[in-house]
Amino acid sequence: MHQTSFFAEVNKMFARAAQYTKHPPGLLEQIQNCNSVYHMSFPLLRDDGSIDVIDAYRAEHSHHMQPTKGGIRYAPSVNADEVMALAALMSYKCAIVDVPYGGAKGGICIDRQDYSQSELERITRRYTFELSKKNFIGPGIDVPAPDYGTSSIEMSWIFDTYRSIADNPLDALACVTGKPVGMGGVRGRTEATGRGVFFGIREACDIEEDMHALGLSVGVEGKSVVIQGLGNVGYHTALYLEQAGAKVIGIAEYEGGVYNPEGFLLEDIVSHRKETKSILNFPGAQNFTDSAKVLELECDILVPAALESQIRSDNVSRIQAKIIAEAANGPITSSADQWLIENGVLVIPDVYLNAGGVTVSYFEWLRNLSHVRHGRMSRRREAHNALQILETVQGLVGKKFDSETISGIESSLAFGASEADLVDSGLEDTMVGAYHEIHEKSRSHNLDLRTGAFINAIDKIAQGYLRSGIFP
Ligand code: NAD
Repeated sequence: MHQTSFFAEVNKMFARAAQYTKHPPGLLEQIQNCNSVYHMSFPLLRDDGSIDVIDAYRAEHSHHMQPTKGGIRYAPSVNADEVMALAALMSYKCAIVDVPYGGAKGGICIDRQDYSQSELERITRRYTFELSKKNFIGPGIDVPAPDYGTSSIEMSWIFDTYRSIADNPLDALACVTGKPVGMGGVRGRTEATGRGVFFGIREACDIEEDMHALGLSVGVEGKSVVIQGLGNVGYHTALYLEQAGAKVIGIAEYEGGVYNPEGFLLEDIVSHRKETKSILNFPGAQNFTDSAKVLELECDILVPAALESQIRSDNVSRIQAKIIAEAANGPITSSADQWLIENGVLVIPDVYLNAGGVTVSYFEWLRNLSHVRHGRMSRRREAHNALQILETVQGLVGKKFDSETISGIESSLAFGASEADLVDSGLEDTMVGAYHEIHEKSRSHNLDLRTGAFINAIDKIAQGYLRSGIFP
């Protein structure tokens, strides 16, 4: 699928940013190289008695922080180069949102539609076993999560397999994140990446100066949106954008695309696809048999949320969106990116924008390691502290707070904030804070957001290495 190596593409973006840093060349080389790649092949006994040979990979890009962390994807396009590129993006992403992991990524080279549920389970369990044998998985070593073509179900098989062979089963829950809630997962992980994408888009749309430069009004409300890929990330991004008053006018899936300038109701499209097994032929919408053409529709915000290399030098000049929100990893090649920068398109880069998943995975991992259910120990103390602070502030400003505020705090004494609320507010803080950091960095250098984000990532990883004392 790739004309050029995806890892080389990521490295070009790295090089563009590295020239604005002052780190020694050796350190930059260490940061950008992929530390380890494990390629495995194993047999699968299929339901019909035949044997398939399955190719699978895990890349650990950077061990400047441990464990390493990154999703597992099931797709026919998976290869060593792809997992190395995705693992590198994970290292930079974790640094940008201050999540203390090195980057990793795994993949199994299959089209999941070709396999039964029990075959997928056997593949996943064998993959986990192979990773464990080579020390490529563990709560303090390398912690997978869902990605393209996988979900909480695969994560539960990974956990169950790892737990049965682990030396330290007590911490085994933390060997993988994105697990079902009943199996150590946190509420909010499934939607976290799309939710984070929404927060990032919202921050971008709230900066008056940037919106005026694009000829757009401030805010998400009323903006027209085109989405490519209605899977986990695409669906949730569309959902939160719709809730904030944006209008989804175009949707691309692998079977084709649909367009309606009046906008779709997301749930109607989802039900239609469930019923007819296709998004095509939705009442009142125009069909596109070539789904790539949907990317070229006139819109305010284009959200590629499927796979890499979707916007390339051969189609970039036909893109009409004013903002491209990279929900997927690597949807824009480096040459297309250059064209977009020169033509004033605002690209919110993947390396920041889809970091919501790993941010919430971090909450899950921490909770699994602490062996304490959310809030059980700290809830009362936090609410009590909040009441004391409120009393002090009342004294300082000489003003009494209304009864609603007080009773809100008091009820939190009794019940505490829900886990979902805490996860959501932690995610929002992270995405908002990181947006302003990369925005500031790019503005101070008069550069695009991606380069600003990479400069931040390089600086933070370099500091990590220097703090570790490995280099004098
Ligand atoms: P997913 O498997 O849930 O959904 C992907 C969707 O894209 C599927 O519905 C698929 O049919 C569709 N698709 C595939 N090829 C297409 C094409 N050519 N045109 C239109 N649609 C197409 O995967 P996901 O988890 O939503 O991941 C999507 C992207 O987001 C990937 O790049 C992934 O690496 C990235 N990402 C995911 C997460 C996560 O938490 N799941 C986190 C960070 C980044």
